[in-house]
Amino acid sequence: MTRLVLVGPPGAGKGTQATALSEKLEIPHISTGELFRANISNGTELGLKVKQYLDNGDLVPDDVTNQMVEKRLAEPDTNGGFLLDGFPRNVGQADVLSKVLAESDKKLDAVVQLQVDEEVVVGRLLARGRDDDNEDVIRNRQQVYRAETAPLLDYYRDILVTVDGVGEVEQITNRVLSALRDRT
Ligand code: ADP
Repeated sequence: MTRLVLVGPPGAGKGTQATALSEKLEIPHISTGELFRANISNGTELGLKVKQYLDNGDLVPDDVTNQMVEKRLAEPDTNGGFLLDGFPRNVGQADVLSKVLAESDKKLDAVVQLQVDEEVVVGRLLARGRDDDNEDVIRNRQQVYRAETAPLLDYYRDILVTVDGVGEVEQITNRVLSALRDRT
């Protein structure tokens, strides 16, 4: 159960859960959003290229995103597994991920869906106040999730593990861990 993807709408708490889960499972946490934001704050070429997309809540083009993830997955700390947070975000990215893994005879073990209602997530994001957390951008990110990312739930139906994402942080982490254990 070591090659995992976490999916859920913006504001579902993926980042928080991914941090806790990666510690418990002792696998690296790979967040595409964080990688992009780090590049933006360091003023890298990649950062300059992607800033506008993050500001608007649009997806960064697949070629840029896929390349960044492929490079990250080539690092040796991912040999024993990884937890992807925010990738894949559409079916094209999911196809690329399968291909990259298949090249080294690997595949995903499970895709964990954090389920939270849209009103709840919009409220959480407004309260959080990150740069891209103003109302119009939040609405756009929810729209992008529904149109682009939600189809992954069907794409991954055979390995999908759905967990209720409302509750205390630790309680949700435990739900995920026990849901993953129940699968085996
Ligand atoms: P949230 O889950 O709150 O939207 P993230 O940190 O996961 O926050 O993502 C922030 C932004 O980074 C997204 O709105 C998008 O612009 C960009 N991004 C992150 N992951 C991807 C991805 N897999 N493909 C394209 N763009 C992405």
